[in-house]
Amino acid sequence: MVLKNIRYALKNIPKKRVTRLCPEVETPLSDRFRGLQILDKSKCIGCGICANTCPNNTIKIIKAPIAPGSSKQRWFPEIDIGHCLFCGFCIDQCPKGALSSGKEYTRGIVKWAHKDMLMTPDKLAREVDIDEGDEK
Ligand code: SF4
Ligand code: SF4
Repeated sequence: MVLKNIRYALKNIPKKRVTRLCPEVETPLSDRFRGLQILDKSKCIGCGICANTCPNNTIKIIKAPIAPGSSKQRWFPEIDIGHCLFCGFCIDQCPKGALSSGKEYTRGIVKWAHKDMLMTPDKLAREVDIDEGDEK
């Protein structure tokens, strides 16, 4: 039995690897994959339909700068990604097409501190480096 297993292992050494190191090697994603949402601030009107649609009550509409460094503020969605189902309802229901699906599913999402799971409008708009997070 042991010899049989060793023989099997040796026979498979030259074969192409069928497993993949995650997250070092990213999994190829389908076009329809729903990852971390992307917000287009120029399209968002702060109507809150995304927040009302969310089945997990994950979205809050908060005031945030309209662009990096701007003192002007408007209403935008903030998503607590720790509670998100990635169902895509918020994206489907947005009347302005301001939300879309990103491809991030580990990068920028897997963090230890809860505040890092809070995707503020500037994070959703990718105005800050989501890899870095807020962890201190
Ligand atoms: S993202 Fe869309 S649905 Fe949500 S507040 Fe902005 S415009 Fe409204
Ligand atoms: S993808 Fe679904 S669960 Fe996540 S914020 Fe949008 S509506 Fe809510």
